[in-house]
Amino acid sequence: MNKYVESVIENVKAKHANEPEFVQTVEEVLSSLSPVVDAHPEYEKADLLNRMTEPERMFTFRVVWTDDQGNTHTNRGWRCQFNGAIGPYKGGLRFQKNVYEGIIKFLGFEQTFKNSLTGLPIGGAKGGSDFDPAGKSDAEVMRFCQSFMTALYRYISPDIDVPAGDMGVGGREIGYLYGQYRRLKGVWENGVLTGKGLTYGGSLIRPEATGYGAVYYLENVLKHEGDKIEGKTIAAAGFGNVTWGICKKAMQLGAKVVTLSGPDGYIYDPDGVATPEKVDYLLTMRATDPMHVKPYADKFGCQFVAGEKPWGVKCDVVMPSAMQNDVKMPQAEKIAACGAKYYIEVANMPTTNDALNFLRAQKHIIVAPSKAVNAGGVGVSALEMSQNSERLVWTAEEVDEKLKQMMKNIHDNSAAAAEKYGLGYDLVAGANIAGFEKVATAMMEQGLF
Ligand code: GLU
Repeated sequence: MNKYVESVIENVKAKHANEPEFVQTVEEVLSSLSPVVDAHPEYEKADLLNRMTEPERMFTFRVVWTDDQGNTHTNRGWRCQFNGAIGPYKGGLRFQKNVYEGIIKFLGFEQTFKNSLTGLPIGGAKGGSDFDPAGKSDAEVMRFCQSFMTALYRYISPDIDVPAGDMGVGGREIGYLYGQYRRLKGVWENGVLTGKGLTYGGSLIRPEATGYGAVYYLENVLKHEGDKIEGKTIAAAGFGNVTWGICKKAMQLGAKVVTLSGPDGYIYDPDGVATPEKVDYLLTMRATDPMHVKPYADKFGCQFVAGEKPWGVKCDVVMPSAMQNDVKMPQAEKIAACGAKYYIEVANMPTTNDALNFLRAQKHIIVAPSKAVNAGGVGVSALEMSQNSERLVWTAEEVDEKLKQMMKNIHDNSAAAAEKYGLGYDLVAGANIAGFEKVATAMMEQGLF
């Protein structure tokens, strides 16, 4: 490996020993960049990689709220404005009990490359809180969001930083956050958040965009292999917004998702989550009990496996779409043996580095990385920002068409970047390189800081 790349990885390991997720993503990305840094000695001279692995700015804040019984709670909030070289900071907010600096930092780093891949002018950011949304009433969520925004509003705007949703933050939370922003600023600046409701500037297709984009990306991979999507079986995970979008688009294109998972286990539906009734039921489950996927098996009479993940079920395509580090070595070994030819990451960093390298080394499997596959979500967020700034509304067809084209470009640009450095059809390295090149060039042109 290039010596400078190696030294930066060591540096990050030493500085972030307590943030394993951040170290993991830095190692994954930087190890793809060796040939690029070999070809560009000026990057080392400008210490570009140490600069790129240090957030431009990251801050933490106190979020105090009262529950319905009048008890006071104190949570922690974060925003990491990781890299603004190519556009305003952009990235979601995650509300989950296990959130801490290392999670927000890893997500902000990934977001920088992902946003670059969309081809649109958005920098990388992420934020969130260790607030646990499970079991909270609407009124509690509203008070929490109002308090969160009161702490954050001075540091964001449509031209500075544009948060959105992520795990634990959906349309309801974005609504409360936007309401508080408007109340505090007294100005119509709806481009400050994306994932909004349709009545106040949200974009059509935004809820579906991550899942639809992932399936469009898969179609491009299949096309490259002379294969097609009709009849394919897909093992997916989770049953949230992203997985819902995958099920819906797969159904439209004649493929079927055969597994879903939750904290309680997974379901196997050999007929596929492939009728409008089944697909809609995911939304109902999500709204009533996001901790259990078993109700799907009870309702539609299929198998439920308690306490397990779906990896290893026979299928054509594996799409880990739940959360980070869902696939470790034991699961990767099952996936390698399950007959699937395509491993298409969807959730942010769903695979540990050893498992990812193991899967990449399998001759019979094509691996695609999440930062490319799930980029349609933030890509449509950028389209939402464009519509807001121009005060216009695009039709669902217009947005869907742009999303489709964006996913083709991301796939083709990743493939071309890997090809350029003699790596063959390596979508993982290609996405890292293509995402990196744009940000690197912008940083080099903007001088040292
Ligand atoms: N949280 C999503 C992601 O991981 C969306 C971010 C956005 O729309 O800004 O990319």
